[in-house]
Amino acid sequence: MILTVTLNPSIDVSYPLEHLKIDTVNRVKNVRKTAGGKGLNVSRVIHMLDHDLTATGFIGGYFGKWLEHQLDQDGIAHDFLPIDAETRSSIAMLHDGGKQTEILEAGPTITPEDAQKFLDHFDKLLNQADLLTISGSMPQGLPEDYYTQMIAHAGAKNVEVLLDTSGATLKSALEAPVKPLLIKPNEEELAGLLNREVDKTDYAALKQDLQDPIFDGVDWIVVSLGSAGAFVKHQDKFYHAAIPKIQVVNPVGSGDSTLAGLAMGIHDGKSDEDIMKTAMTTGMLNTMEAETGFVNPAKFATYFAKVTIENY
Ligand code: ADP
Repeated sequence: MILTVTLNPSIDVSYPLEHLKIDTVNRVKNVRKTAGGKGLNVSRVIHMLDHDLTATGFIGGYFGKWLEHQLDQDGIAHDFLPIDAETRSSIAMLHDGGKQTEILEAGPTITPEDAQKFLDHFDKLLNQADLLTISGSMPQGLPEDYYTQMIAHAGAKNVEVLLDTSGATLKSALEAPVKPLLIKPNEEELAGLLNREVDKTDYAALKQDLQDPIFDGVDWIVVSLGSAGAFVKHQDKFYHAAIPKIQVVNPVGSGDSTLAGLAMGIHDGKSDEDIMKTAMTTGMLNTMEAETGFVNPAKFATYFAKVTIENY
C-alpha cells in the first residue's frame, strides 16, 4: 500500500457567500466540510483511483474524531496517532465572483513525547508500506528536520519517499544523506532553494536549474506549471509534459492530485511517460471538479490520452 502522511490535517470548511461583508454578520446556507490538509487530498485521489493506501499523521480531540469519521465514510483507510490537542479547521470563504479569503488555524503544537511516539507508530506502518508520500507544512513544535528524520526511517526500511513541502523543511531533506525519491517544487520554491530568480516559461533555463548540485541524489523533480503542464527531471532525462486546454472549475488541490498520480504511477512500476501522464491527468481532473482533492475516474482514460510528453 501507499502510506500518505498528513502531520497537520484539518477540517476544511467552505463558505460560499455572494458578498463578504466586513464588520457585520454573514449568513451561509451551503456549508461544506471535508477532511483536508494536503496529504488527505492526496489520499482521497489515490482512493478514488482504486489504489490501496493508509493515511497517517497526528489527530486530536473531538474534531479529530469527526475527521476520522469522515475518512471512514469516504472509505479511506487511516491510522493516525491520537494526541490531546484538537485538530484544526481551515475556513475558505468563496465570495464576490471568484474571490477566496482563507482563515487557517495553525493547529496543535506537538510535544516532544508525541513527536517520538509518532516515529515509533510510523515505523510500524512502514512495515506494510511500498511507497510513502509526505505533504504540506509541519505542525508547530516539531524540529525543522522532522521530515528528514522520517525519510531516514523510511530509507532504513527501503521505502521510497515522494516529498511535497517547502522552505526550511525541504532544504533540510535535500541536505540529508538519505534523499527523497521525488520532490515537487513550484517556481517560488525553486527560486528559494537556488537563491535566484527562476523563469518557469524558459524550459532551457529550468533544465539548467534542475541540474544544480543541491538536487544531487534526488531521482525525480517535478515542477508543475498549471495550465502549461509540468517540467520534469528523472535521473539524467528531462521532459515537458503538455496538457490540453480544459475548463477549470476549481484548481485548489491540483498539486496534491498531481502527487497522487505520481505516487500511483511509481507504485505500479509504470514507464516515465505513463507516470507523468497519470500525474497530469489526476491534476487536470481535480481542476474540473468543485471539490478539492477530488477526481472523476470515468474521465481518466480520455484525458490521459490527451497528455503529450516531449523529451527536452
Ligand atoms: P500546485 O497546486 O502545486 O501549484 P499546479 O497549479 O501547477 O500545482 O497544478 C498541478 C497540475 O494540475 C498541473 O500540472 C496540471 O496537470 C493541472 N492543472 C492545474 N491548473 C490547471 C489549468 N488551469 N488547466 C489545466 N490543468 C491544470
